[in-house]
Amino acid sequence: MDTGEFRKRAHEIADWMADYLEGIGERPVRSPSAPGEIAAALPAGAPVHGEPFDAIMADLDRIVMPGMTHWQHPRFFAYFPANATPPSMLAEMITATLGAQCMLWQTSPAATELETRLLEWLRGMIGLPGGFAGVIQDSASSAVLCAILTARERALGWKGNEDGLAGGPELAAYASDETHSSVEKAARIAGIGTRGLRRVALDGDRRMDAAALDAAIARDMAGNVRPVIVIATLGSTGVGAVDDLASIAAVCRRHGVYLHVDAAWAGSALILPEYRAMIEGIESVDSLCFNPHKWLGVQFDCSAHFVRDPDSLVRTLSILPAYLQGRETGSVIDYRDWGIPLGRRFRALKLWFVLRYYGVSGLQEMLRNHIAWTRELASQIDGNGEFELTSGPNLALLSFRWRPAGRAEEELDELNQRLLDAINDDGRIYLTSNRIDGRLVIRVSVGAHATRRGDVLDAFRVIREIAARV
Ligand code: PLP
Repeated sequence: MDTGEFRKRAHEIADWMADYLEGIGERPVRSPSAPGEIAAALPAGAPVHGEPFDAIMADLDRIVMPGMTHWQHPRFFAYFPANATPPSMLAEMITATLGAQCMLWQTSPAATELETRLLEWLRGMIGLPGGFAGVIQDSASSAVLCAILTARERALGWKGNEDGLAGGPELAAYASDETHSSVEKAARIAGIGTRGLRRVALDGDRRMDAAALDAAIARDMAGNVRPVIVIATLGSTGVGAVDDLASIAAVCRRHGVYLHVDAAWAGSALILPEYRAMIEGIESVDSLCFNPHKWLGVQFDCSAHFVRDPDSLVRTLSILPAYLQGRETGSVIDYRDWGIPLGRRFRALKLWFVLRYYGVSGLQEMLRNHIAWTRELASQIDGNGEFELTSGPNLALLSFRWRPAGRAEEELDELNQRLLDAINDDGRIYLTSNRIDGRLVIRVSVGAHATRRGDVLDAFRVIREIAARV
């Protein structure tokens, strides 16, 4: 493709993108595609000869688009948001064009230095103390794996990487049942194992019980098990529970245990001064991660990972073959040493575009709207005798259960599952489920950038209308 054709196609694609965004609200939120349907429409092998670009674009519309679930849809209320704002999309077009591999300072100094500066901006925006240094990871899952590996090395006197874990002490990590599954996955990868991950009891608000944590660590220490790390959560995936960081931090301080904070979703709300109390106790935190790619308008992937002691992270993850050494090695930041993969995308550019385009106040307004509209939805649900609010509203997340009169408790799980399936098949809104104390509940998570108050309030009308015919 020569630059003349590239220019023409890029303009066409810009139009395609704007048309998509203008018409997104008319599409079913969740793809109606059946398993295997998209694969069946694709040829079994690669084309031997190149094809016209128009044919590729036609198949994008014909084959791919029906199989897409629309995360930027104004009535996407599933999972947590992955809200991509238009400036972030435009930045990603530039990133794609540059095609840079930003593993070392030398392989694009601007990528490294923008990332360092932008993470300082973010640190200030969310109220972290100056001592924290930041890096952009691809995901919160990677950040927690880095945290567990660093904590493990610290707990093993920096010998685990060298010697392996065989013959070493039994290791333990601590989290609650509200903790995201990425923590268990990371504990497995880091050699702590599912059995070494202690599930600390929850209090009545589904927060990790600090006294139970204290007892679990003391029990392990008495039994010659080495505590490695505690993972606290700000904004759990299930119900948005916010652990009492100050109490957990005090326990970690007392026992000298590493403390990582997973604020993947709720961390964005720290840009609102009225939610800063969530990080009381931050002085004793070793690392914290939140995802601007969830709720701060920055395209996936962009996970902000802050560490109090970058030397420990680098000591854990750095490995320096001759082919990666350069004149500046050791005197500049090489972010390849701060994460799992060697290769890195230029992720700071989209963050820069978003922060500059909206400013802190623009992003604060978006979050405050989402939180306020979720509260309005919660009071609609709460005021209706057929529905029970089962959690929240916590920030912009709530869950509910349909309990029509005359139905036995044992029937409600199946009934709510049928309601959820019917809602998602209908396509006007998209919701997901969770279990609280074993009971199936329906989650509503507000956070798409395109969502307006009417979309949120209308959701309950759609839910009731569909419930009436289930
Ligand atoms: N932690 C929490 C609380 C989450 O809700 C999620 C995902 O929703 C994650 C971690 C994992 O995030 P990622 O997809 O960035 O790994």
